[in-house]
Formats: sequence, structure tokens, C-alpha cells
Amino acid sequence: MSDSSPQPISGPDPAPPPPREHRGPGPGECRLCGSAPAADVTFRQHVGMVLLMQARSRPGPYCRSCGIATFRDLQNRTLLTGWWGVISLLVFSWSTPLRNLLSLRRVRRLGAPVRDPAVISPLAAPLLPGRPLWRRPGPLVPLVVAAVALLLVVRAVTAPQLIDPTSDSLPGQCVVVVAGELRPAGCSGPHDGRILQKLSPGTLADPCAAGVPVRYLRDDVVLCVEPSR
Ligand SMILES: [Zn+2]
Repeated sequence: MSDSSPQPISGPDPAPPPPREHRGPGPGECRLCGSAPAADVTFRQHVGMVLLMQARSRPGPYCRSCGIATFRDLQNRTLLTGWWGVISLLVFSWSTPLRNLLSLRRVRRLGAPVRDPAVISPLAAPLLPGRPLWRRPGPLVPLVVAAVALLLVVRAVTAPQLIDPTSDSLPGQCVVVVAGELRPAGCSGPHDGRILQKLSPGTLADPCAAGVPVRYLRDDVVLCVEPSR
């Protein structure tokens, strides 16, 4: 007879898996919350300071939530502070928001963030995106800047120009008088008078025909203006 001692039906319980080691965010994981997927993008802020300027950047990678939150924060700050300098106004107040928009486009394409519990990251969960950009004060600044620029352009284009006293085509030109200055006007519209002659001042007290008022534009040119009736 063989030894009839009971044989174990199965082997001993397998040892529990070793606890997973905590680790920092790896490639493809959000630098703030450790979630994946994440895009390797950078968001920027520009600060214009009259003649100086300052550029700040926050490189990623960012998950979708942290990326949108960071974009809204820095874009709002750039729109508020990016205009107040000469070079800033010409270059960076436009280029920094555009670059941020390109980064936002990449972040928005990501799937919902999923966090590996083994990751130790600065944040325990993705950032909340917060209020949309259009509900923050930043976008008001470029709107006001654009409105003021448009107003200045419209005023420059529509403001009546001064008469050029050196022009040879002045006789026949209709004019309006604004603050003692002659400005060209269309003869078909309202006007104060019409230039009859352009003369160099002589010794006569009134070189224009009798009864015609004289407007002196420059020391060396006299314009005889017939008032409109
Ligand atoms: Zn994140």
C-alpha cells in the first residue's frame, strides 16, 4: 500500500501582489493632476509695461480639464495686461492669444481625463475649467481697444482737411470756415463760400475785389473768398 496521507488539492495561496509604488506623472500624463491622456502644450501670458514687457509660460503636458482651466486663466490675464506697451500692442497682444488658442485646440481634442491612483501629482483631481472666457473681463479690453482705434480712424478719414494754400487749383473751390480756418467743402453741399482768387499779397490793403472778404491762410498767400448767400 502506498502512503495514503492526504495530498493538498491545490498549492498555497499565491502571495498578494506587492503594493504599487507611487510615482510622479509620466510622459503623456497631466503635470498638474497626473491624468491621461494629456497633450504636451504650453500656455502663455504676456504683460505689457509701456516700454518693457514680460512673458510667462506654463508648459504642460495638460489633460483636457487642466488645459482648458489654464487656458482660460492665462488668456484672460493676457487680454487684460498684454496691451500696455508699444511692442506689446503691435506684436504680443495678438500673437500670445493666438498661440494659446492653438494649444487649446489640441487640449480640447483629448478624451476625458483618467487618473492612475499610483500617481502622486500636485493636484489630486483635474482642475475645474471655470467660467468661460467670454464671461471674464479680459475680452472687454480688446473690444474697447478696437472700438477706440476704429473711432480714431473714422475721425481721421471724415475730418475735413485744411485748404492747401500752395495748391494752384484753389479758385472755384468751395469752403467752410471752422474756427477761423478754411476747409474744403463740396459746392453742392452746405458751404460758407467759394474761393475766387489766389493772390500774393501786395502793397494794397485789400488785394481782393471790393466787397469780397479776404482770408489769410499764410503770410505769402491770400485767398479771396466770396461768401455764400
Ligand atoms: Zn490635469
